[in-house]
Amino acid sequence: MSRWRSRLAQLGALALDLALPPTCASCGAVGLVLCDRCSRRLQRADGLRCPRCWLRSEGLCRACLDAPPPLRQLRSAFLYEGVARELVLTLKYRGVPAAAVPLVEQAGGRQLRGDVDLLAPIPMTAWRRRARGGNHAEHLARALSDRTGIPLDAQALERRGRRSKQQARSANLRERRANMRDAFRAPEPQRIAGRTVLLVDDVATTMATLESAAATLLAAGAAAVDAWTATREELRD
Ligand SMILES: [Zn+2]
Ligand SMILES: [Zn+2]
Repeated sequence: MSRWRSRLAQLGALALDLALPPTCASCGAVGLVLCDRCSRRLQRADGLRCPRCWLRSEGLCRACLDAPPPLRQLRSAFLYEGVARELVLTLKYRGVPAAAVPLVEQAGGRQLRGDVDLLAPIPMTAWRRRARGGNHAEHLARALSDRTGIPLDAQALERRGRRSKQQARSANLRERRANMRDAFRAPEPQRIAGRTVLLVDDVATTMATLESAAATLLAAGAAAVDAWTATREELRD
C-alpha cells in the first residue's frame, strides 16, 4: 500500500471510529470495547508457573534451568485464548487502540516488580507500523504507563530491517530464533544505561522476540530487563 493510501485508510478508520460507538471485541455488543459479561470470561494466566518464562511448572522449568533467559522474569496477565485473544486481535489487526485498555485494566499492576524504571514496547519495523496504523505493543505500554505511572520510552528499541512474510512463515522454530538474534538495536544507549526496563508486548509464545530484545537492552547497558505481556500462549517447541 502506498503511503498515501495507507494514510487515507487510517483517516477512514478514524472517521469510522468517531462515527460509530465501540463494540465488544468478543461478543459484538454495542457500548464498550469489552462488555461486563465478557470481561468475566477472561482467563487469567495464574496457578503454578515458572518464575522466569511463566509457563506452567512447579518452580523453574527445565528450559529455564538449562539455559536461563536474559530476562529476570516474564509475567502475563491472561491466557492467549477466548476473550483475551479476541482483544489482542482487535488491537492488532482491526486497529482499535482502545482494546489495549481493558487488557491492562483487568490485569492490574500486581505482576510487576517495584524497581522498574521504564516501559519499552516491542517495536515494529517502520513499514509494518505504517501498514497497521500504529504499534499495538505501544498502545499496551501506554495504557500500562497510565495505570502505573512508570514512564514509557517508545524509542528505547528499534526494529531492524525487514524480512518477507514468506520467509517468516516458512522458517522453523530454530531458524526463527536465529532470525530474531539481531532483530533489534538500541539507537541511544544513554536512554537505558543503568536502568531496569520492562518490555511490553501483546503475546508471549516462544520468548524468542522478548529474549532478543532483552539481550539488546542488556548489551546497551540496561541494569536488568523484565517483560510483561497481555497474554501467554501455553505451547512450547
Ligand atoms: Zn461482550
Ligand atoms: Zn521457564
